[in-house]
Amino acid sequence: MPYIPMRPLLEYATAHGIAHGAYNVNMPCQAKAIIEAHETIRSGAIIQVAEPGLAYLGGNADFLNGTLEEKRLGAERIANYVRQLAEKATIPVVLHLDHGRSFESVKIAIDAGFSSVMVDGSSLPYEENVALTKKVVDYAHKRGVSVEGELGVLAGTEDDVFAENSSYTNPITAVDFFKRTGCDSLAISYGTKHGAVKGDNVKLRKEIVIATMENMHHEKINGALVSHGSSLVPQYIVRQINMLGGQVSGKGVPVSQLNEVIPAGISKINVDTDIRLAITRNVRKMYMSDETLREDDQVWKLMCEKPQQFDYRYYLAPLTKQLVEDRHDHLSQKYLKPITDGVKEIVTTATVLFGGAGDADDIPVVTLKEMAERYGKGL
Ligand SMILES: [Zn+2]
Repeated sequence: MPYIPMRPLLEYATAHGIAHGAYNVNMPCQAKAIIEAHETIRSGAIIQVAEPGLAYLGGNADFLNGTLEEKRLGAERIANYVRQLAEKATIPVVLHLDHGRSFESVKIAIDAGFSSVMVDGSSLPYEENVALTKKVVDYAHKRGVSVEGELGVLAGTEDDVFAENSSYTNPITAVDFFKRTGCDSLAISYGTKHGAVKGDNVKLRKEIVIATMENMHHEKINGALVSHGSSLVPQYIVRQINMLGGQVSGKGVPVSQLNEVIPAGISKINVDTDIRLAITRNVRKMYMSDETLREDDQVWKLMCEKPQQFDYRYYLAPLTKQLVEDRHDHLSQKYLKPITDGVKEIVTTATVLFGGAGDADDIPVVTLKEMAERYGKGL
């Protein structure tokens, strides 16, 4: 199956009232696990990397302070890896940049071979957000690459994205944004929140999704809506982590609310936190099952120092190089199964919950070259 842009996958999802999970990765073995999980349930796959994730993939354990050069190395590493796997896969595969912050970083991902990018100008004044997104669309569409924009501000923390308060997306402005930028999809703010702590009273504003889609139909705009900050934070995993010595808390978005907004027009749902939680539980479980593993062990020491930490990149920092280079020596080998099992558990569950299972053979297979021609004709 070829490697495809995001556009045909989201068009299919929007037309059929389903959504696809988009799963964040920070190392090659996770991308492989995502493809394998989707092959099992015969579903199209979206693999995504956030901008700090590119720096991590470039070998920098201090990924929030990565250089453009490290991001370039990381982008090339993951794009080459995913494209090779996609050629052999039996399902369509998309590789997407999550939260690109500048034209330069988005360009790095496109030049490395990503088939889709997000440019997040939501913290900029509106006109600057439009100008930045339009500039990215002009560059990306010539190469057949899809573009996701963002409008409105989500509260919460996600890697280097932090906002204290949210401001909901205005459906009229969303239509204006699609028209003026030509972007393929738009992340909207409608009550979700980045991170694991969403509080007890998550209330998704379904009417924002409905009104935005209605306005888009009126204006004959063919675009998709995206939900960020919508991790489920499975409570059984939180409980298990804490039973294994962790100190994690938090609540996610109730599945019942996602099930209402998906048929209303949400076609892509980002999932990152849940994968981090599942991996953390698996790694803790491995250490608790064998006392000898804990003796003089750097990773275990880091886990004990910060029992509330569930971003595996922190406690696996001593092994960053092996993990991102997909080189599994005697030190890194034992983490492979806990990591890939955690990815598969979440990907399979979420893809089924969002309705994406079984569509692999129905998503139109479009190459980047064909997509560039289609964009050129304004279709
Ligand atoms: Zn996000």
